[in-house]
Amino acid sequence: METRSIRGFHDVLPEEIKRWHHIEEEAKSVFELHGFSELRMPVLEFTEIFARSLGTTTDIVEKEMYTFQDRDGSSLTLRPEGTAGVVRAYIENSMWARSPVTKLYYTGMMFRHERPQKGRFRGFYQIGAELLGPEEPPSDAELIAMVWKLLEGIGITKYLKLELSSLGDDNCRPRYKEMLIAFFTPEKERLCEDCRRRLGTNPLRILDCKVKGCREIAARAPRMIDNLCGDCSRHLAEVRENLDSVGVPYVINPGIVRGLDYYTRTVFEITTEELGSQNAVAAGGRYDGLVEELGGPRTPAVGFAVGMERLILLHQMAFPGGFGREIRVFIAHMGEEARKKAFQLASELRGRGVATETDYGQKSLKSQLKRADKSGAGLTFIIGEDELNRGVVKVRNMSASTEEEMDFGSALELASQSD
Ligand SMILES: [Zn+2]
Ligand SMILES: [Zn+2]
Repeated sequence: METRSIRGFHDVLPEEIKRWHHIEEEAKSVFELHGFSELRMPVLEFTEIFARSLGTTTDIVEKEMYTFQDRDGSSLTLRPEGTAGVVRAYIENSMWARSPVTKLYYTGMMFRHERPQKGRFRGFYQIGAELLGPEEPPSDAELIAMVWKLLEGIGITKYLKLELSSLGDDNCRPRYKEMLIAFFTPEKERLCEDCRRRLGTNPLRILDCKVKGCREIAARAPRMIDNLCGDCSRHLAEVRENLDSVGVPYVINPGIVRGLDYYTRTVFEITTEELGSQNAVAAGGRYDGLVEELGGPRTPAVGFAVGMERLILLHQMAFPGGFGREIRVFIAHMGEEARKKAFQLASELRGRGVATETDYGQKSLKSQLKRADKSGAGLTFIIGEDELNRGVVKVRNMSASTEEEMDFGSALELASQSD
């Protein structure tokens, strides 16, 4: 048997992990500044949770979920996204009863059986946040501004465009669906097989079809944003006003459909042209009906998720080369007594919060220095018998290529200073 991972799944290797930590920490700090707390959820839920929240006629539910039968016969699904689980936890733990505003974020792995492509995996990581309770437009704007702040914080907004639209609500969307049916019915024969079916089940999905012929027809279809009711128009206008007031740049894109049924009113996508055709890096919107749909009290809400792998690709473009130096000091040694001293010094340095590496055996000095170089350490300590007897250590500054001899105490002091 060939030893390999499942197609569409990937490891995050130690040489990349600093970048991941950096982005995750930035997200955590930005979210907490906005009053969000982390929610850790299971990766498995009853299939029903996703079918009911995402909509049974969406691509995710129809084609992409990892669903299997548990030993007791119940149907379970590996989460394809985070919102449904957050809402399930929100209802199950009666969070709505504790506060009129609940702000939650999550990070973790999601699973969708899609065609793998650049930056898009079947097992992938998302960071997301949900703001539950308020229905006022400033809550949409705060959430969108927060995502933008995060992307600014990690230095990649130069590659990004924020697109905004509205999908209407229970008041104006049914009327719009009728308009779509009236528009697409005469074109029925030219639609793909999926879309002919969608015409009867969920005509909005036709707008999302990736088949070229369908896209050409859909481009001429009436647009939701031109057919919003008064309340929805006002909502969008106020979201825009709030975003403008804090200088978040966006464009209106009436073509945003989002692949999920639960969205109402505000929807947004953050896209890039740097990563090929599948270009959304982050996406989200308002979902005022979902909590009720899953059995909770009526609770308006707005949320988003960003794809980690795509953020990482953009971050690599913005900051190529190594990212984040891990090891600060490498201690090379010659002779058994020096090895013992190196072991102690390494322990001492780590105790002071200085990342340190040393050799465990008696490798040649040359091979130890090679490893020191590779480790990215800024300083290399070299101890031989002679140094040991004199109570000193040779300290090599790796970037300046200078070397000086100092006593152990001074060497420890120097290594403890931040560079
Ligand atoms: Zn189609
Ligand atoms: Zn409306």
